[in-house]
This record gives sequence, C-alpha cells and structure tokens, in this order.
Amino acid sequence: MTTVYLNGQYMEKKDAAVSPDDRGFLFGDGAYEVIRSYPGCGLFQARPHLKRLQRSIDELKIDYPSAAALLEVAENLIRDNGLTGEDAVVYLQVTRGAAKRKHAFPEKGTPATVYASASPFKGNASDQDRGTGVNLVPDIRWSRCDIKSLNLIPNVMSNQHAKDTGCGESLFVRDGMVTEGTHTNVCAVFDGRVHTHPEGNHILAGITREVVLGICKTLSIPVELLAVSSDGLKTADEVFLTGTTAEITPVVTVDGMTVGDGTPGPVTRKLQAAYMEMLL
Ligand code: PLP
Repeated sequence: MTTVYLNGQYMEKKDAAVSPDDRGFLFGDGAYEVIRSYPGCGLFQARPHLKRLQRSIDELKIDYPSAAALLEVAENLIRDNGLTGEDAVVYLQVTRGAAKRKHAFPEKGTPATVYASASPFKGNASDQDRGTGVNLVPDIRWSRCDIKSLNLIPNVMSNQHAKDTGCGESLFVRDGMVTEGTHTNVCAVFDGRVHTHPEGNHILAGITREVVLGICKTLSIPVELLAVSSDGLKTADEVFLTGTTAEITPVVTVDGMTVGDGTPGPVTRKLQAAYMEMLL
C-alpha cells in the first residue's frame, strides 16, 4: 500500500483523485520539488527545497503560503511508506487549483491543489562511477527557468533525445552559452577552477549546485560563476552534472567528443567524495 498526501489528507494512492479541471492538468499551471531521502541523513536539504518551492509558487502568484509546512508531510510520507533508512525520493506539487477552463487566474479563494508522494529511488551508480555522455541542444525554454514550474515539455523532449542517442543528459545552449541540463546543473573544470552558470532567469538555482559550491569553498577549490560556451565545454578538463537525482555525475563525452582523458577527473572525484560524506 502506498500512502500519498492530497489537499490536507493522507490516503491510499489508488484513492487519490484530482479534478480534470485542475490547472496543473490543463495548463501545467503549478510548481514542484523533488527531495532525496538517504538511509544515513534522511531528507537531504529539505528546507532549501521548500524555500525554493515557496519562491516558485510566489513567482507564479499562486495563493499558497505554506510550503514550509510540507516538511512534516514529507517526513510522514517517508515514515508511513516504510522508507526510513532507504534511498527514496519525495515529490511535491502545488497547482493553481481546479476551475472552469480559462487562461486568467480563477476566482480568489480557489484552493491550490497540493500533492505529495514518496517512493523508493536508487541513483545511477554506473553513471556516477564511470561518467556519462551529454548532447548539446538549443535552449528552447522560456525566460523564467529560475521557476521550477510544471511546464517541462522542452526538458522532456530534450531528455528523450539524450536517451534516444545513448546519452545520460542533454545540455541546453542559449546564445552560444551552456545554461544547464534538462534536470541538472552543469559545471566545467579548467585548470582546477570550477566554472558554472551564474544564478539568474536562465537556470534553476540548483540545491545540489549550491551544496557543491559550498564544498568547493571548504576544499579551497576556486569557483568562477561564469557561463561556458558550447565550444568551450568541449575543451574543459572535466565536466560534471549536479542534481537531486544525478547527485554529482561526471561527464565523459560532449556531443561525442571526449572530455579530458575520457574518465572522471580528480576535481570531480574529490567533490563526489565530499558529497557522499554529507549523506552519511
Ligand atoms: N536544472 C533543472 C532544469 C532541473 O529541473 C533541476 C532539478 O530537477 C536542476 C537543475 C538541479 O536542481 P537540484 O540540484 O535542486 O535538483
């Protein structure tokens, strides 16, 4: 039996029903978050994830001020689904609620739809160990990539392209510069310095990216908050992805071209080791 949370209540997943008029369903009008839970440390970086969820909700002008309260919901779902001490993932989604279909916001007082679930999750150990390949694709997304909205069509199409071509991820390129992956941020190492796209409206401010930048500071690894060009990425000594599900995944090919010597590099390895320490 899987227990989920919907609009203030816990219930069996098979009993969870959302209106076909829900604006999440009709317009992708909502925001979401994904939080990992580990056997050692439990929910990882839950507060920053919930803070970002509240920001996304606020930027979308959805009337739901209570994202912080979802921490307890996430904890309850992990416990009630027997996932304490397991590798798991919590999914949280808030939409603008159900109303007669029209583009403009529904009447004031229309309640947001709030859904949360927890399920077992295993990271891709082989990619993290040996590295993965990435494709470069045009960044056809809107200009508010800082909002973690449900509108994921470009991400879905581009990630499928990666899968179809035997790659682990596609990286978006906007105006010649690499922004981020379909569900990851990207870092490139040049002469021991970690380069990553600065925060702003062209990337999601990744929680894992932030953790990794913190580790860099601790380990005195220099960081440059600078975008890397698509050509430049192919000349990097090392490239790696960061993300809640990807954790730190080395990249060993970009558009079929070998990165460095084709194996995960020393900076990536150091960061991976420090990241793993945090999960104990
Ligand atoms: N960029 C995009 C577009 C994402 O969807 C994600 C996560 O899903 C990330 C970056 C990585 O963010 P985080 O480290 O918070 O998972």
